[in-house]
Amino acid sequence: MNMSENPLKIHGLTVGLIETNCYLLEHVSRQTALCVDPGGDAEKILAFCKKQHISIDRILLTHGHYDHIGAVNALVDLLGIPVYIHFEDVEMATNPDLNLSRFIMAPYQIDSYLHYYESSGMIRFFDHSIQVIHTPGHTPGSICLLWNQKLISGDTLFRNSIGRTDFPGSDPELLIRSIKSELMGLDDGIEVYPGHGMNTTIGHERRRNPFLAPGIDNGV
Ligand SMILES: [Zn+2]
Ligand SMILES: [Zn+2]
Repeated sequence: MNMSENPLKIHGLTVGLIETNCYLLEHVSRQTALCVDPGGDAEKILAFCKKQHISIDRILLTHGHYDHIGAVNALVDLLGIPVYIHFEDVEMATNPDLNLSRFIMAPYQIDSYLHYYESSGMIRFFDHSIQVIHTPGHTPGSICLLWNQKLISGDTLFRNSIGRTDFPGSDPELLIRSIKSELMGLDDGIEVYPGHGMNTTIGHERRRNPFLAPGIDNGV
């Protein structure tokens, strides 16, 4: 995506009740980071940033489910940073029934103003460009983030699996279509950082993901 001499450094933190992967994309020379999916444990995220001597520039959300947004209010209250989401998930992020928080623990909704991703699909972060790819299916406004041979896939694509589609607003056929049309055309070597569980690569999922390649041995 871009040939910066200063690649973004990716840090993964497991947060919240159902072990969501929150990612910090650190711009090393600027000592600041994009925070993707702060799903809980605001103190843990802040303590990590303090230890690494980085600030948080912005929050980027892959979708509006509770386990990806649970620490947004706490971080915004403390840091006053902007929050970005796809407009089709705004209703979810601001409705405890739709973001599932009411059924997991206590009703929760994002209180702060929400910015939408640009329709151009690009996020500028100093000398870096990050591509926002709309991949509806798990939720209507699910997105993935692509830069420098790395992809954050939210709850759209997991190692050997795909996102659940039994929630309000989910669409199983649309999810498969999004993955095949938007992600399976990417290079095999792209590293995939999902919203839960282990990292993978596009090549591994193309060959081994049982949801994408029926008929192929799925014993891995
Ligand atoms: Zn989700
Ligand atoms: Zn999730």
